Amino acid sequence: MFIPTTPEELRDLGWNQLDVILVTGDSYLDSPFVGVSVIGKTLLAAGYRVGIIAQPGVSSGAEIARLGEPALFWGVTGGCIDSMVANYTASGRRRNKDDFTAGGLNKRRPDRATIVYSNLIRRYFKHTKPIVLGGVEASLRRIAHYDVWSNQVRRSVLFDAKADLLVYGMAEKTALSLAERLCEGRATDDLPGICYVAAERKPGTLELPSYEEASADPAAFTEMFLGFYRNQDPRTAQGLSQRQDTRWLIHNPPAPPLTEAEMDEIHDLDFERNLHPYCLRNGKVRALATIRFSIPTHRGCYGECHFCAIAVHQGRQVSSRSEASVLREAEKIASLPDFKGYILDVGGPTANMYGSECKKKLLRGACPDRRCLYPQVCEKLRPDHGRQIRLLRKLRQVPGVKQAVVASGIRHDLVLADRKHGLAYLREIVRRHVSGQLKLAPEHSEAEVLRCMGKPGRESLIAFRNLFRRLTAEAGREQYLTYYLIAAHPGCTQTDMEALRLFAGRELAIHPEQVQLFTALPSTVSALMYHTERDPFSGKKLFVEKEAVGRERQKKILVAKKGRIRYGNCGLQHCNGNTLKQMLQSDESGGRIMGKDKDVKKEAKKKPSKTLKEKKEAKRMKKSGKSGEL
Ligand code: SF4
Repeated sequence: MFIPTTPEELRDLGWNQLDVILVTGDSYLDSPFVGVSVIGKTLLAAGYRVGIIAQPGVSSGAEIARLGEPALFWGVTGGCIDSMVANYTASGRRRNKDDFTAGGLNKRRPDRATIVYSNLIRRYFKHTKPIVLGGVEASLRRIAHYDVWSNQVRRSVLFDAKADLLVYGMAEKTALSLAERLCEGRATDDLPGICYVAAERKPGTLELPSYEEASADPAAFTEMFLGFYRNQDPRTAQGLSQRQDTRWLIHNPPAPPLTEAEMDEIHDLDFERNLHPYCLRNGKVRALATIRFSIPTHRGCYGECHFCAIAVHQGRQVSSRSEASVLREAEKIASLPDFKGYILDVGGPTANMYGSECKKKLLRGACPDRRCLYPQVCEKLRPDHGRQIRLLRKLRQVPGVKQAVVASGIRHDLVLADRKHGLAYLREIVRRHVSGQLKLAPEHSEAEVLRCMGKPGRESLIAFRNLFRRLTAEAGREQYLTYYLIAAHPGCTQTDMEALRLFAGRELAIHPEQVQLFTALPSTVSALMYHTERDPFSGKKLFVEKEAVGRERQKKILVAKKGRIRYGNCGLQHCNGNTLKQMLQSDESGGRIMGKDKDVKKEAKKKPSKTLKEKKEAKRMKKSGKSGEL
């Protein structure tokens, strides 16, 4: 069943009033990949009457008021992506297309949607029930944060939205507890995973530098950020307080991640895996083409890449589903009338973190003084791909499934660090679960830039590339690695981009035609570096390319065709008569975080050049008709 979104649906259900109304910046897709739909279905399953208003018009009250006023609370989200990221490219251009809007045109989601929708509710319902913010936008902006679109440190979104509460992270448990407390008329201030505004500092919390101090002084902003960053483990985090104007933002410790049984319960909910008919009147949603036939196996990521927002929202602990639950979902997908036999993705933020976590972290929390994957894979992590192998094998047995593809990116260093199952895992996916290309995210090649990104060095990438080529040749398949690369990250210079270009050509045998242009996502370490121009951990000064032309130039260094550009000590020089401006204007792409890169994809179709040794080995194996061992 879809969550109702029209008065007619409420009438059909015999509901006079809803308990909770959820407002979202995306069209309403009923899918386990869409947060608002997961929260709505969780509350529905617990017996609450829930409605959804998707992308309401903001010029009148007609749409925001069409389901009336809720009995418990309003839930407001900007959608699956921060609305500023969704609406603008990394170069600051307005996006015309939108994967989460029916019809595909980006004209229904306002900038800073969380604030706009919250104020819209206040305009038409003066003294209404609590307005609760949630989703990615609220999570990333829950404390004072640097906002690259306005180039300023902004207050917590709670203040600008004039909302009552903010639930952060993947908030199923928090939303349920909140509904229960509000139903019983109990206080909500002690709930984990929430932020709220108070007149005074909460006793026992860590006091962060105030918003005023943090916005005026980069050193105070760094201190504030590190206090926030180091208090995100649900087992060890201290509550935080930050003065903003005359009031206080109170940040409670995170809610505990879901257990395997709780994850299964969520994914056993009855999702339509489709667009609500009310939204379908405006056309199809592009995102559905992928997520309708894909399965999320886990959430969270312990990679801690500095530019990525996943850990800020989903947390650094991986929570996995049971194999049985994933298989039940595969059976459901296989029974869909338009299923052609291909599960398009089995994965999560990092596909090969499924079913593997650090035992020490699960007991006592993440280490405050070191990281799980950087600079090397921690020896205590003991990555184990055994469960993933079993899962993939079982998925192949589901009637109607011809192939289950691992399309999410994988961490190559994790594969190499798993002495027991790493090789078997890679062999398994190379033979049966890669649809032409496997995605890796090295992001760069130069040590200093990689350090700023929190990414491993190039040695593990080359070792993995060699292994992949070898196993691919053994399998007799034609498939390739594709690489996500970033230009203009803090610490990255034109010289670094020139070195990356050389590395990509010589070592990876690719000529990328499109790369992501760095976007400073709120509350990430990279955004902190971008704003302060310093490494927050060493205090060292960093070069940060902030000029639009310089940023585009970094990107062009990597993607420019041979012959059109030559490089010298003076940087980029144009050789074929066009002006640099024309070149920059010709590129409308923006580098969407976690987005697909069609030109890289195009590039991947080209055969990578093989070394002489590899050619000989492939010839030998072809002749003998058997595959070799590593
Ligand atoms: S022991 Fe290692 S893997 Fe475990 S939490 Fe600490 S750094 Fe991460």
